[in-house]
Amino acid sequence: MRDVIIVGAGPGGSAAAKYLAEKGYDVALYEKRQEIGAPKRCAEGFSLAGAKEFNLDLPKNCIRQKINSSRVYSPNGNFVEINYEVDGGCILERKVFDKWLVEEAVRKGAKVQAKTTITGLLKENGKVVGVKGEFFGEKFEERCKMLIASDGIESKISRMAGLNTACNPNLVDSGVQFEMAGIDIEDQKKIYLYFGNEIAPGGYCWVFPKGKDIANVGIGVLGRNNLPAIKYLEKFIESKKELKKGSILEVNSGGIPVGGLLQKMTLDNFLVVGDAAHQVNPIHGGGLYEAQFAGRIAAEAVDEALKRGDTSEKQLSKYNKEWWEQRGNHLRNVEKLKEVFKKLSDEDLNFLSENLKGNNLADFCEGINLKFFGKLLMKRPHLIKFAKSLF
Ligand SMILES: Cc1cc2nc3c(=O)[nH]c(=O)nc-3n(C[C@H](O)[C@H](O)[C@H](O)COP(=O)(O)OP(=O)(O)OC[C@H]3O[C@@H](n4cnc5c(N)ncnc54)[C@H](O)[C@@H]3O)c2cc1C
Repeated sequence: MRDVIIVGAGPGGSAAAKYLAEKGYDVALYEKRQEIGAPKRCAEGFSLAGAKEFNLDLPKNCIRQKINSSRVYSPNGNFVEINYEVDGGCILERKVFDKWLVEEAVRKGAKVQAKTTITGLLKENGKVVGVKGEFFGEKFEERCKMLIASDGIESKISRMAGLNTACNPNLVDSGVQFEMAGIDIEDQKKIYLYFGNEIAPGGYCWVFPKGKDIANVGIGVLGRNNLPAIKYLEKFIESKKELKKGSILEVNSGGIPVGGLLQKMTLDNFLVVGDAAHQVNPIHGGGLYEAQFAGRIAAEAVDEALKRGDTSEKQLSKYNKEWWEQRGNHLRNVEKLKEVFKKLSDEDLNFLSENLKGNNLADFCEGINLKFFGKLLMKRPHLIKFAKSLF
């Protein structure tokens, strides 16, 4: 019997596997794709402070481009710039990064297997005690003391275990992206974000440089709209002479859970991390940091539970508590901001952009200093009712 089985080798699953293997547990990490990290479903933006926090000594080939600033456009074409500490962020090569994270878990002693789909769960007295899987058409069963679901937004494992983690479709961004080459980029160390109800309803378009003439050019739009996300992206690219001459090297798409944070992420012998638990920043849709963070604190909770020989839901609920204290409450504030954000007209967005100059927009994305934001909204009478939720 394994100590821990983990389903899904994205950043959340790899982080949990690495931390648990490091503590000496017998860990298996199963991934249904035949190549870990591919195809990518990501704009590949990651904070280097996050890498430092997780002690990731990123090999050079994981990083395509260091980033030192971002430019946020309002619908009227004005913009606000944010300068980070020197090279505060990067655009990863996720296919390399995801595989490297898994290699790190293997180095610590985890067993990893690609092209292995977990198709069902073994249960006794209603409790999860293992998995049923398939590798190259060959079926297998394996028992474990703990099961971690890190199977992404399409998560089925939680439902099989008996935990309802279904996403509310109104709280899911549709993301579509082209990796484009042969485009002009003003500054390859800057990321570019474009807001507006005509451009990207409830979301934004992005240009994340991966070099001097290559970038991830994408869009995330919230819920149902007049057009599918791909049409908004095509319109956006067509409107920019520096982009429309480019070639498309890759098409990436996927859903992004941008709300509906879960209070309960545990059952007896079971917990869920990452996108599968909606652990994503609701305002910008970034989940790389959140998945790894959750993987780490999930590993701490599992370690304590295994040491005590008690993997009951009650014991594991420490994970819920820790996550809410350290991340959930911040993200809940960001969720409130997102709620306001999706109700703003283009004129409101233009007003905000004018008045936010000189402020640290990154703080708002972390749910910090929302009072300032609320006070700004109070200056526009029709926004007072939304502003109140931010105090
Ligand atoms: C278009 C787009 C752009 C994005 N851009 C960014 C960005 O720039 N920065 C950022 O931080 N985040 C971004 N994100 C979000 C980020 O990609 C996710 O938050 C992150 O990958 C979540 O990691 P995870 O480990 O929870 O899940 P995932 O990375 O989705 O990994 C889940 C894994 O589980 C596997 N799996 C599923 N079911 C099974 C099964 N039954 N058996 C075995 N394996 C299974 C899947 O194949 C997958 O590999 C973006 C997302 C999208 C869609």
